[in-house]
Amino acid sequence: MSQLREKRKYQRCTCCVMDTSDSKIVFDEKGVCDYCNDYYKNILPGWKAKLEDKELLARTAEEIKNNTAGQKYNCIIGMSGGVDSSYLCYVAKELMGLNPLVYVVDTGWNLKVADENIKRIVEALELDMVTDTVDWEEMRDLQLAFLRSQLPYQDLPQDHAIFASLYNYAVSHGIKYVLTGANSATECIRPPIEWVYQNDLTLIKDVHRRFGTGKLKNFPTCGMIKYRLYYPIFKGMKRVAPLDMVEYDKEKVKAFLTERFGWQPYSNKHYEDIFTRWYEGCYLPEKFGYDKRKCYLSNEVLVGTVDREAAIKELETVAYDKETMRADTAFIADKLGVSLEEFEEILRGENKTYADYKNSWWVIQLGTIILRALGAEKKKFR
Ligand SMILES: [Zn+2]
Repeated sequence: MSQLREKRKYQRCTCCVMDTSDSKIVFDEKGVCDYCNDYYKNILPGWKAKLEDKELLARTAEEIKNNTAGQKYNCIIGMSGGVDSSYLCYVAKELMGLNPLVYVVDTGWNLKVADENIKRIVEALELDMVTDTVDWEEMRDLQLAFLRSQLPYQDLPQDHAIFASLYNYAVSHGIKYVLTGANSATECIRPPIEWVYQNDLTLIKDVHRRFGTGKLKNFPTCGMIKYRLYYPIFKGMKRVAPLDMVEYDKEKVKAFLTERFGWQPYSNKHYEDIFTRWYEGCYLPEKFGYDKRKCYLSNEVLVGTVDREAAIKELETVAYDKETMRADTAFIADKLGVSLEEFEEILRGENKTYADYKNSWWVIQLGTIILRALGAEKKKFR
C-alpha cells in the first residue's frame, strides 16, 4: 500500500532513529542527520541557557503580572487533559502564581479519560474554565473532505479548530498572554512537512471547497498572517512557553500529576484519542510509509530518556495490532457517517501532497525564515 514518491538507498541516522522514510533527510560524513545537527547547533544551546537561568520562570511570571494588573485573568491555557497542558496549569498557578483561564475545545473526539483529567486539575487548582464545542456537522464534513483529498495531514482539521478557537477567544476577550505547553524536551524534532504539514488555512479551505458538502460557518479559523502578524503586532498577543523554563521529565511529571491530582495517562503513550491512534498508527504508515514514532523516539534519544538501541527495537514492533486497527477503522467510518465500504474505497485513492492543492507554503516559509533570523523560532521546517 506504501506509495513513497522517491526511492533512495535506505539510511538511518547514526545518532537518532530518523531515516530515509523522510525523503529530504540529509546526512553528514559521520552519518548524522540534519535533525540532530540542528538540535545540537540551534536548539540545545538556547534551551540549556533557559534551564540554567533559575530566575527566568519567576521573572516571566512578574512580567505577566505587571502587564495584566487589574485584569481577572493573567493568561489563557489551551487544555487537552494530556500531560503537557495538565502540567502547564499546575506550573502557571502554583509555580508562577498566575490566574490562568483554562480553555477547552471539544472537537467531538475527546476521550473520557481526558475530560476527567481536565475536571480534576481545574477543580483542584480552583481555576475557571471555558469550553468551546466545535459544530460537529462542520467538523465531520471537513474531516471527510480531508480524507477524500488523499493528503497525509488528517490531523489538520482538529488541530486547526483547537488552535484557532483558542487564539480567537484570547484576542477577542483581551487576554494578551497565551501560555503554551510547547517544550524542547519532547518536541525538538518536528516531523518533516511531507508527513505533518502546517496550519495552512488556504489549504484547508481549498480541500473543503473541492470535497466538502456544506459551508464552514461556525468552524473556527485563523490564518497564518493573522496569527503571526496581526495578533502579535496589533493586538499585543504574546506566546509564552513555561515548560522550557522548568525541568521537564515527562515520566516524572506523569507520576507527579497522578499522585497530586489523580490524573490518568492515556492507554497508549503516543496517541491522544482514537482518531489520532488510527491516523498515526494505521493511516500514515500503511498508506504513506510514515511512522511518527521515529520522531517521538528520536526526540527521546536526543534528550537522553531512551537509548538508541531500545528505540530501534521499539520501531521493529507494530505500533498497533490489526484487530484494533480494523475496529478503529469501522468506528471512525461510522462516526463520520459513511459505510465501511465507502470509507475503505476513499482510503485506496492515490496519495497527494500539499502541492496538489492551493496553499500558502511560501508565506509560511518566509515567516519561518524571518522568525528564525530574529531568534524566535528554533525548529527546522522543511
Ligand atoms: Zn539524527
